Amino acid sequence: MSQRISFEFFPPKTADGLQKLLGVQQQLLARNPMFFSCTYGAGGSTRDNTLRTIDALREHHPDTAPHLSCIGQTRDELRGLLDHYRDQGVRRLVVLRGDLPSGMGYAQSELRFADDLVRLVREHSGEHFEMEVAAYPEMHPQARSFDDDIAHFKRKIDAGANNGLTQYFYNTDAYGFYLDALRKQGCEAPVYPGIMPILNVANLLRFSHSCGADVPRWLVSKLNDLKDDEAAVKEFGTEVVTKLCERLLAMGAPGLHFYTMNQAAPTLAILDRLGL
Ligand code: FAD
Repeated sequence: MSQRISFEFFPPKTADGLQKLLGVQQQLLARNPMFFSCTYGAGGSTRDNTLRTIDALREHHPDTAPHLSCIGQTRDELRGLLDHYRDQGVRRLVVLRGDLPSGMGYAQSELRFADDLVRLVREHSGEHFEMEVAAYPEMHPQARSFDDDIAHFKRKIDAGANNGLTQYFYNTDAYGFYLDALRKQGCEAPVYPGIMPILNVANLLRFSHSCGADVPRWLVSKLNDLKDDEAAVKEFGTEVVTKLCERLLAMGAPGLHFYTMNQAAPTLAILDRLGL
């Protein structure tokens, strides 16, 4: 298999939850992922859980990447985390701005945007870490324009990041146009589509609204028709997302990054149908 596959988790809050997540990791390990990653709450709100989860996951797969966000964090706190991760042998980071908790202004953050954090990582840790950064084929909700957002992604790569991981989307044209726009600006970085399995209609619509991901009208309508039949939602969701992945890979996507939602079965069902 030449495509790079990676799996994203969020940090469980309890020891029991962590044990369950290690079981999920075991099932996904069989698919030979390049790396696992674990999210980090803005302002360091999941700091200890993220650290604990990374330690546990790394016992079974050394290439496990902590997400690191700069919002609400001081430079010293961030440097401390970078030293900790380097001492633990971590080699990859997912580097983000994070979302502003309501009521928190930029004044409380020493770094404003993800490219500032990419710069800090390179200044402080040299080339030690491979860095993944966020990309938004359907535009980040706060971007002033599509072109501005393209320029911001390029700025992160120019500051030293290696790869893009996209927000999830269900429209392959968005990915194609996004890549074209980046290449026209001379940005050749690999951009890995983020894939969100469809598990629950209400949650998907709520979350998509908050993160600016577009769920096409036809898909909303069909999912609403099926929403009271969990098995039918799963079957249809698997079919839709498998086709999305097939098209993305056929378009030349260099791999796939799965938002697993800490569950193995939905992602495995898609990988089975893809023959990966
Ligand atoms: P940035 O790249 O800094 O961009 C944020 C916005 O600012 C964009 O609209 C951009 O166009 C604009 N911008 C950038 N630079 C400038 C500038 N110089 N001037 C004006 N505008 C500018 N969130 C978490 O809290 N924890 C996580 O673990 C996490 N993991 C994620 C993983 C992936 C793969 C993705 C796609 C997102 C993740 N997020 C996570 C969500 C992310 O933090 C939010 O989408 C956040 O709003 C933006 O983060 P960013 O790194 O894309 O920010």
